[in-house]
Amino acid sequence: MKRLTMDVMRLLSDGDFHSGEALAQALEVSRASVWNAIRDLEAMQLDVYKVHGRGYRLPRPVSPLERERIEQHLGAHAARYTLEIRTAVDSTSTALLERAAAGAVSGTVVAAEWQAAGRGRLGRPWHAGLGGGLTFSLLWRFTRGAGALSGLSLAVGVALARTLEQAGARGVKLKWPNDVLWRNRKLAGILTELQGDALGPSAAVIGIGLNVRLSRGTRARIDRAATDLETASGRRLERNQLLAQVLIELDRVLTAFEREGFGPLRSEWQRRHAHQGRRVAIELPDGARESGIARGVAEDGAFVLDTRTGPKRYHSGEMSLRPASARKSKTIETADKRR
Ligand code: ATP
Repeated sequence: MKRLTMDVMRLLSDGDFHSGEALAQALEVSRASVWNAIRDLEAMQLDVYKVHGRGYRLPRPVSPLERERIEQHLGAHAARYTLEIRTAVDSTSTALLERAAAGAVSGTVVAAEWQAAGRGRLGRPWHAGLGGGLTFSLLWRFTRGAGALSGLSLAVGVALARTLEQAGARGVKLKWPNDVLWRNRKLAGILTELQGDALGPSAAVIGIGLNVRLSRGTRARIDRAATDLETASGRRLERNQLLAQVLIELDRVLTAFEREGFGPLRSEWQRRHAHQGRRVAIELPDGARESGIARGVAEDGAFVLDTRTGPKRYHSGEMSLRPASARKSKTIETADKRR
């Protein structure tokens, strides 16, 4: 992202009208450059109102991410984290995987205002408009081996659900293995990638995409039912504070997970399970589907499905869970074509 584009966003972030001329003067550039920057902002799915004779205005103020503000909100937990705020990256997880391989410390966080190629599981895209959500990745190092980290995505889901509830969203649900839902719509996604040996030590790069306020442009890109936290909570939220709240809860949950694994968090996950007791289908990597009644998760994070031939357990990997009536999704077809 060009520096000027970010500077224009900062000036507009107060939610007031700013004429093209005033922006150009403040930034010591031409009006044509300002106009190009506004077009860049719109291309990054930020809604900008244009009113003839008055100029440009954001329908809602946006607070840019700022390390100092996040650290203030983190309080005593700030010591656990090393924050890197990037204006634009391809994907925060890709950037952090590189930093991890180069020896970055546990607790390193890469948060970005804009991801050019945000990733979900199985090569699926994660869409987030500029200023409309949180997209960040956290590196957490474990003394145990990667094999002992099954259930980590679920533990992260519990931390996210707790935070979203504290932020005012009631009835947050979890969908195995890695989605956070509100009223059957996706509110946040989690992507966990592991590095290291089976016997340890190991490291996890935990990527989180959380919709705070979806712009029209972002909504149009998402091919599934989606929602945002301002809708779910009925509150206006400040992103720096929200990011700190998520990190505080992640610190608690990951510290507990490191000590005792997913087991102690299981009942909390089950309580929020979106499909408990419902008929669902698991889509297997080869495209086959296995249907049955969802029984939730086991102590090791495996999904338990009651099938006609008895209970079966699934470990996340390349599998997706669907309500039994859902057809094979457009998303999967698109992803397959891309491979
Ligand atoms: P599922 O569990 O439903 O199979 P997934 O967990 O594999 O999906 P993720 O990898 O978490 O999905 O996220 C990628 C998918 O999420 C995309 O294919 C798209 O359908 C959807 N998506 C992308 N961006 C957003 C967003 N901002 N909000 C909600 N959903 C989104």
